Amino acid sequence: MDPVTEALDDLHRRISPLKDGEVATYIPQLAHADPDDFGIALTSMAGHRYQAGSADTPFSIQSVSKPFVYALALTDLGPEEMLRRVGAEPSGEAFNAISLEEDTGRPANPMINAGAIATTALVEAPDPAARFARILDCLSAFAGRRLDHDEDVYASEAETGDRNRALAYLMRSAGSLEGDPHTVTDTYFRQCSVRVTAADLAVMAATLAKGGLNPVTGARVVTQDVAVRTLAIMATCGMYDGAGQWLLNVGLPAKSGVSGGLIAVSPGRFGVAIYSPPLDAEGNSVRGVVALTAVSARFQLHLMHAP
Ligand code: GLN
Repeated sequence: MDPVTEALDDLHRRISPLKDGEVATYIPQLAHADPDDFGIALTSMAGHRYQAGSADTPFSIQSVSKPFVYALALTDLGPEEMLRRVGAEPSGEAFNAISLEEDTGRPANPMINAGAIATTALVEAPDPAARFARILDCLSAFAGRRLDHDEDVYASEAETGDRNRALAYLMRSAGSLEGDPHTVTDTYFRQCSVRVTAADLAVMAATLAKGGLNPVTGARVVTQDVAVRTLAIMATCGMYDGAGQWLLNVGLPAKSGVSGGLIAVSPGRFGVAIYSPPLDAEGNSVRGVVALTAVSARFQLHLMHAP
């Protein structure tokens, strides 16, 4: 067995017995997730793919979609306009917080729901169907294969997503969201329901690690500048209210999601992804945080660590 697979297997074996955390239930369909599912995947800059455990189990991408859709909107708008519309400051609050600037109504950052909904609305398209098609194309290009969405998860969130709709209405009244809040959140719910595996997420993360070039397909998905800005936002805002401690302990740009997905990027080295549904109080995958903390320490990946 190659040394990387061996290391992932070893990590998987050591962390599997950890039973802490709760599977999210506020989107009813997510409550069906198996808390014992645990997959780890890694994609190198040469496009080599490694995995351990249930890395081929499909699940809805949820908030792990946010950096990739941000990269798409950033490509459309350019850095100045993007920053004028959605901020880049950690909110210090939960993922579903009402974190809007008082004077402008601008959402704090694109990694929490308010900013992510505003970002989805900024993806250029003639109509909502075309907007979602562009989002799905973009996520698929990052993953290097054609993705689809989970209609049951989408319907479940659309039925129970009043808080996100409320955020969208608030933003429209504050002047920071264009378009119909109901339609925009509908597209956002579809985006969150896109089906991926840990193996897909590792390729997506590796594409950011390689400056926007997919190391498996060789396709340029976004520019180096867009990848750098996206990673910077992930580093400061990717782990919700746990972002500061994460940067301290792990030191890598990352993004988590409520279904238990978690990606981390070691720029110029690899992308890594975890799937494990039980979450901690901040909404981050318990096994994911433990696994990536161990990987970072073992391979000295902390961004502040001098090579
Ligand atoms: N679709 C979820 C929501 O908006 C995404 C949140 C998450 O993954 N943290 O509530």
